[in-house]
Amino acid sequence: MTDASTEPNESDESRSKHFITQAIDADLAAGKASGVFTRFPPEPNGYLHIGHAKSICLNFGLANQYDGTCNLRFDDTNPSKEETEYVESIMDDVRWLGFQWDNLHYASDYFDQLYTWAEKLITEGHAYVCDLSSEETRTYRGSLTEPGKDSPYRKRSPEENLDLFRRMKAGEFADGARTLRAKIDMASPNINLRDPVMYRIMRAHHHRTGDKWCLYPMYDWAHGQSDSIEGITFSICTLEFENHRPLYDWYCKSLGIHHPRQIEFARLNLTYTVMSKRKLLQLVKENHVNGWDDPRMPTISGLRRRGYTPESIRNFCADIGVAKFNSTIDVVRLENAIREHLNAVAPRRMAVLDPIKLTITNWPEGQVEMMSATNNPEDPEAGSREIPFSGTLWIEKEDFQEEAPRKFFRLKKGGDVRLRAGYIIDCHDCVKDAEGNVTEILCTYDPETKSGEDKSGRKVKGTIHWVSAEHAVPITVRNYDRLFNVENPDVTDEGQSFLDHINPDSLSEITGLAEPALAESAIGDRVQFERLGYYVVDPDSEAADSIVFNRIVPLRDSWGKMVAKGKTQ
Ligand code: ATP
Ligand code: MG
Repeated sequence: MTDASTEPNESDESRSKHFITQAIDADLAAGKASGVFTRFPPEPNGYLHIGHAKSICLNFGLANQYDGTCNLRFDDTNPSKEETEYVESIMDDVRWLGFQWDNLHYASDYFDQLYTWAEKLITEGHAYVCDLSSEETRTYRGSLTEPGKDSPYRKRSPEENLDLFRRMKAGEFADGARTLRAKIDMASPNINLRDPVMYRIMRAHHHRTGDKWCLYPMYDWAHGQSDSIEGITFSICTLEFENHRPLYDWYCKSLGIHHPRQIEFARLNLTYTVMSKRKLLQLVKENHVNGWDDPRMPTISGLRRRGYTPESIRNFCADIGVAKFNSTIDVVRLENAIREHLNAVAPRRMAVLDPIKLTITNWPEGQVEMMSATNNPEDPEAGSREIPFSGTLWIEKEDFQEEAPRKFFRLKKGGDVRLRAGYIIDCHDCVKDAEGNVTEILCTYDPETKSGEDKSGRKVKGTIHWVSAEHAVPITVRNYDRLFNVENPDVTDEGQSFLDHINPDSLSEITGLAEPALAESAIGDRVQFERLGYYVVDPDSEAADSIVFNRIVPLRDSWGKMVAKGKTQ
């Protein structure tokens, strides 16, 4: 982790009002809930993504807002897909986002209690052992338009069921040979109520319980009961669980245990990315990206490495709010959240990423002058730094045009421009190679125009950035772009997959030249390269010859528009 995150503050989710807070307020007022006790319940089968951040901000935010508690619970009921590596990454990510759980739990800690409750339901005639194969179970279940059919094993006596269930636990039957099912209603319009499976036989090593169990509870059977055991009052989940709610309620009522209220909200979808853990895992496993924390991934660890701050992610989550209907959020809103935060806090530095040489012909030979530049115009307390200025500089190639349109406000032959924190220069000539490419720009400087001390009264239309050739430090710059080249990579033509939408140009690595202050950068430092964008020092810098900067986002807003204008006129 590269960050010590700050506490969530007033502007976060913690102060918001929406349909969930309305439901909570109503329940508290009616005495239906004793407080706000929530949980964030990830399955440790992958790394967390920005969608999970929304759920984290919501659950922890509500607990903060109402002075309640929020647990972190690993929903580890499916041993075949779960790993300890994921458990640890999830804890890191939640903490990095700025939240601390009140209690840490694992659904697997409740396996004994769940088993005891299953025996209770069997004894009371509410559950039975079924010998249908998974295929047959599916057929018997019916469809949205047809009712299901009763399993031939539905009428087994509680005694027989109890005996079989105990023998299932003892390992007498093969994987998949039998299931335990709740006896509800095979004709229910809600398919989830058509005798849902509670337990399956599966010999798999569990990351916590080892080989103790060959029976594992299904999600629905484990989830609500885990909430109940922990005394959760509001079980907040995403909309796809809305039609599981009757089952959630049925289990709690049938067992006569504490009954949390399930409330569903719309999951977050973002443009230009995929969010399902299965797909993210595929990107990692098939090396389409360099691991879960690849800066192009929508994972929390990817966003962190990309340079996102916890604040920006929390602000984004607060900004998009909580809704009852699914929608897709434009990734620009996430990018704007980090721009807004870094605009306020990131020091400004100069770096030239596509250099061309500029010689100041009237500069005294060998002279170096220190120029003072403010670190952040948005933050007077950020102070200033000194930058060496000399007669040979690098500027961006695209900041010079030999012959430019009238509204090109950067440097052109016969034109002038201000060098940021330096002098106004006038361009009188340029040197070209045999092919006619400009290789060097020749200018004179106006000694009366030193930035901060300029009394010349000269006005110029443009300011450009530069570095002194003699003092510049080489840096490696990874310009990251969106991982997919379509808004919704999940939508594909027949025979195609989301992988066909991968943007082949999502990473370009270049060498740039930076002002010497950047030589002191530490891993995780975030800066604004003036006029270019926001960048962060990547952990790879440790082993590399030069510091590696990841582009977080381009500035795009003000300068981006000017560039576009200059180019089109
Ligand atoms: P995926 O579908 O990506 O595999 P999941 O829902 O299976 O994710 P879990 O680990 O079960 O992932 O999720 C933990 C919590 O995070 C759940 O409460 C879930 O509803 C919530 N969550 C997951 N994805 C999103 C999302 N895109 N937006 C909001 N909440 C989400
Ligand atoms: Mg899940």
